[in-house]
Amino acid sequence: MRLKFKPWAKDKLLAHPQYVVHNPEDYKGRWNELFGNDNPVHIEVGTGKGRFITGMALANPDINYIAIEAYESVIVHALDRLIEANLPNLKLLPVNAVDLREFFEKTDVSRVYLNFSDPWPKNRHEKRRLTYASFLNIYEDILPEGGEIHFKTDNRGLFQYSLVSMSQYGMILKDVNLHLHDSEFEGNIMTEYEEKFSKKGSRIYRVEAQFPKR
Ligand code: SAM
Repeated sequence: MRLKFKPWAKDKLLAHPQYVVHNPEDYKGRWNELFGNDNPVHIEVGTGKGRFITGMALANPDINYIAIEAYESVIVHALDRLIEANLPNLKLLPVNAVDLREFFEKTDVSRVYLNFSDPWPKNRHEKRRLTYASFLNIYEDILPEGGEIHFKTDNRGLFQYSLVSMSQYGMILKDVNLHLHDSEFEGNIMTEYEEKFSKKGSRIYRVEAQFPKR
């Protein structure tokens, strides 16, 4: 993603504390208090501009969603969507996924979504891929036993890499879809990247992967 520095983004995020969580460490182990209910919490890591997570929150009012994005200049676009939709079950978290253990403890999160994660194709950048073993370990630490990651991408190389990384980690690949838009899959909510790349004819790959019960 090409990033444009937006100096006003921080102030805009700070001006909307009802949607943007600025003190996530305070909610570790008690995110239900923030949402005001005991519904399950699903997170998307690398939300971008928030098309997917806003659509999911609208479609599933009984699930709480947290959108995680490292760049304030990007997540500020998700804030615009959220202000317009005014959803009680979606919060935005402008943090880097490497720090998720500081904000969530085991079972705080019921599902992790990864959508069109940056592929980082060079070998020397492997550790930055959101499906690298150290990231899988973070997700495992905040999910319950048998928790799931739902991942989709148009990038075949990243998809192949992720299937190998997940299975080497001991995850069960439950549902591997090699052509999401030409399949029976129902209720797909598109992300920004998915819309852009599928319009250009790219095939979309998807997997549901489950952590083992150790
Ligand atoms: N998921 C969106 C979509 O499908 O349209 C955005 C995809 S974009 C290629 C990947 C996003 O992940 C970028 O906005 C990037 O800043 C974010 N990202 C990458 N690594 C991250 C990390 N370690 N923590 C949080 N966000 C991250």
